[in-house]
Amino acid sequence: MTIPCRHCGEEFDPDNLPNDAAVEAGMILAVERYDDAGKVCGNCLASRGRLAMMYDLSCH
Ligand SMILES: [Zn+2]
Repeated sequence: MTIPCRHCGEEFDPDNLPNDAAVEAGMILAVERYDDAGKVCGNCLASRGRLAMMYDLSCH
């Protein structure tokens, strides 16, 4: 089942996200900071995660 991403509107499957370090980091932020886990697609999680890994070293 796919749902529209809350961020970009792209349809995605929240149970089938890419297995990627940036996506995982984005997922942690979605849970801990943005409270939108499961509503944001892999692309948006990955770009969020990549930014966090670059700017927020406490993420590691
Ligand atoms: Zn998205």
